[in-house]
Amino acid sequence: MDRLPFNGDRWQSSLQWQPTDAQQQRFQQLYEAILAANRQINLTRITTSEDFWEKHLWDSLQGVAPWLSDPQAAELKVVDIGTGGGFPGLPVALVFPHWAIALMDATRKKIAALEFVCESLGIANVSFLPQRAEQVAHQPTHREAYDLALLRAVGPVNTCAEYALPLLKMEGQAILYRGQWTAEEEDGLTAILPRLGGKLLEVRSQTTPLTQGVRHNVMLTKVERTPDKFPRLPGIPAKTPLV
Ligand code: SAH
Repeated sequence: MDRLPFNGDRWQSSLQWQPTDAQQQRFQQLYEAILAANRQINLTRITTSEDFWEKHLWDSLQGVAPWLSDPQAAELKVVDIGTGGGFPGLPVALVFPHWAIALMDATRKKIAALEFVCESLGIANVSFLPQRAEQVAHQPTHREAYDLALLRAVGPVNTCAEYALPLLKMEGQAILYRGQWTAEEEDGLTAILPRLGGKLLEVRSQTTPLTQGVRHNVMLTKVERTPDKFPRLPGIPAKTPLV
């Protein structure tokens, strides 16, 4: 099995943070467990050690950069919507052991694979939601229950906003992990956010350290309660994003 690169200088110069040796060991265990699970069910196409480091570990953690300067400071309730192979949720769970992270995905088999991975690695600060965001967000135990929602590669930005905002507490935040980001997308998003009780906080940009890819993190916050009719019925937010 390949060793993941440590890349301490790359972490440091991009995020002003770097993993401890113990965290690096956990990353290596995660890499091996995800690749093993990937032989049973398609979780990720990113499998080389360099790609895994940059596109899964580094990328997952760059989205929560505002919290890396003091990982113990907050105890957040987090939901990773459309976690797939566990990204960004699992690297975040390893670096923020005081956070409680719900891994949500519509594909039950992916969540079952992640349960096995977390069980075998003893990752205890995670829970599992094998359901669609449109359903979870109407359940009283989950609606307005989260401090932070993370979404990477789950669809158009307005679809992501409709999934995330109902799940957030007042003043909670959502981080939408995006690649390219255009003025049109930003205008389209700011036009619909008031209907969901949301507000655009900021858009942070990053360059991936090994291949110089473009990343944008769109940070939303909840300023008013989301009307009960959102999210709409399963499938609708993706098929017909709010305009
Ligand atoms: N976040 C991961 C996976 C992205 S692929 C990563 O960046 O690597 C998108 C995932 O979102 C898929 O696993 C799909 O099953 C899930 N998904 C899509 N729509 C969803 C919804 N409405 N609710 C929950 N999960 C959803």
